[in-house]
Amino acid sequence: MNQSNKKNLEFIKNIGISYFLQNTPRKWYEDNSKSPLDINKIENNDKLIKINHIVKKIKNFDTPLKKLAKNLVLYDGNLDAKVMFIGEAPGKEEDIKGVPFVGKAGQLLNKMLAAINLTRDEVYITNVVNWRPPDNRTPTDEEILEFLPFLQEQIDVVKPDIIFLLGSVAAKAILSTPLALGKIRGSWHNYQSLNLNKTIYTIASYHPAFLLRSPKFKKAAWEDLQMLQKKINEKN
Ligand code: URA
Repeated sequence: MNQSNKKNLEFIKNIGISYFLQNTPRKWYEDNSKSPLDINKIENNDKLIKINHIVKKIKNFDTPLKKLAKNLVLYDGNLDAKVMFIGEAPGKEEDIKGVPFVGKAGQLLNKMLAAINLTRDEVYITNVVNWRPPDNRTPTDEEILEFLPFLQEQIDVVKPDIIFLLGSVAAKAILSTPLALGKIRGSWHNYQSLNLNKTIYTIASYHPAFLLRSPKFKKAAWEDLQMLQKKINEKN
């Protein structure tokens, strides 16, 4: 480790930060990083400090999922994003890399974003459950409820204008509805947090992994994405 990186790490420890997101694509805390940790950003970036507290809380939260998973998977993208995408739970690739949506479903998500002129750097991407469920099984209702406070806290930190829910687990968690996706997609819902002074426009659509298995639903997903694009343009 070179002198300047050492100093940076000491500084970060001194201001009380001891947890980092694991294996983010930026690899902020590693040597030879193309995007080294920007100390000034950390000093002023209250959001990153808050997110690191959430990481700490999730790591301290006792759940059998933690023992079976390799890495905690919290988020990718931008803490100042106007749009937040919420998926279900990490899969195999995500568990290995510690980053959400990096496998096949993630590749399709990247294409979906590109189709409406968005990149991963412009949005915040997370999941309802942050440890990989064994064999990629669907999270149970109990697990969804257990992890919901961590998701709600992320929403309070990022303060997006719009939430795009990927699949029925995310829809169930955020919209508290047992209704099938086919019934709730295609229209805007309001997400309200007591900690935020605003209503967040929320829309649910099909999960990219489902679209890979059932491509005939891509047309409907494209309509939902166009609704998102229109809402982003209205907000700008
Ligand atoms: N599916 C999800 O819901 N989330 C991921 O991160 C990857 C696949």
